[in-house]
Amino acid sequence: MKAIVVESPRKAAVREIDPAPLSAGKIRIRIEYCLICTWEKRIFSGETGSLPFVPGHEASGIVSDIHPDTVTSFRIGDRVVFKTLDHCGHCSRCYSGETSLCTGKKASRSYGGIPGSGGMAQLIDMDPTRVFKIAEDLPLEIAAFTEPLACCYHSVMRADILPGDFVGISGGGIMGQLHALLAMSRGAKTLLLEPDPAKAAHARAIGVHAVADPLSQDAEKIVADFTGGEGLDAYFITTPQPAIAEDCLRIVRPSGKVVFYGSFHPNRAIGLDPNKIHYSQVDITGSFSADAVDFYRAARLLSSRIIDVSSFVTGLFPLDRAQDAFQASLDPASYRIGIKLHG
Ligand SMILES: [Zn+2]
Ligand SMILES: [Zn+2]
Repeated sequence: MKAIVVESPRKAAVREIDPAPLSAGKIRIRIEYCLICTWEKRIFSGETGSLPFVPGHEASGIVSDIHPDTVTSFRIGDRVVFKTLDHCGHCSRCYSGETSLCTGKKASRSYGGIPGSGGMAQLIDMDPTRVFKIAEDLPLEIAAFTEPLACCYHSVMRADILPGDFVGISGGGIMGQLHALLAMSRGAKTLLLEPDPAKAAHARAIGVHAVADPLSQDAEKIVADFTGGEGLDAYFITTPQPAIAEDCLRIVRPSGKVVFYGSFHPNRAIGLDPNKIHYSQVDITGSFSADAVDFYRAARLLSSRIIDVSSFVTGLFPLDRAQDAFQASLDPASYRIGIKLHG
């Protein structure tokens, strides 16, 4: 099979790799599409991880083989998405349903000695407990959005949004806009804080109630206007600047929720007034990755077309143009660049 290898900073090559034999307990998936996420962009540009590496984790495909000793109801030909990030299934966090916080032993993947996350190779062998069926008519390039949508679903569910809530989101990249779509699906009135006019226009086009530029107007004033002075019921930070996290208490109502969604780059410690948290009872929490249940829900949301992500496909590239695909993904104006793993 072929796999994309980030060999050195800014160099993605396609290499021929012998797939390991399919082992008992696993099913094999022929990967059709894989999207390039922020993490992969950082790997490609040499900002994170060690190279060489086979990246990819936002992928979709078709079950192509099932080991005879695998007990499963999946069948060859099933259209699926899958959670590449492993979890042990039997630690305290896994038993509590928090598989993204697994503290047990996890399997790692190797492609002829090169480590990888698994999405950008033509085949992947999976434990069926991390594979999710999608609707027959859901295009596979759209199904590949299950992982990013699952991460945002995980985040949105941490804030207990009620119909009629005022929800604010910092950052109008794809993650911020997916947060907005999910918050609106729960009946919230949603405000996106984003300075880029093109991203703001896209957010308006997909129905976000209000978009404002936090660089030209103070966020406290924007939120006061949006909420009639009440403050946000929930505030999601999808931007990487610690200064934005530091500023969160000014715009959230008493007993409101703040979710630090994305990781912060470059990171630093922030100052938060402990008395403000004490008197306001604001909940500040984080959200990391997605659990199996979030994948299941995200696959359903896409399959049933409750969430439409088609406008986030900025471009699709064939496998042999992997280098061009990565290069294109670095354009800050892009949402998701996808790679088609088979011709
Ligand atoms: Zn575990
Ligand atoms: Zn991702």
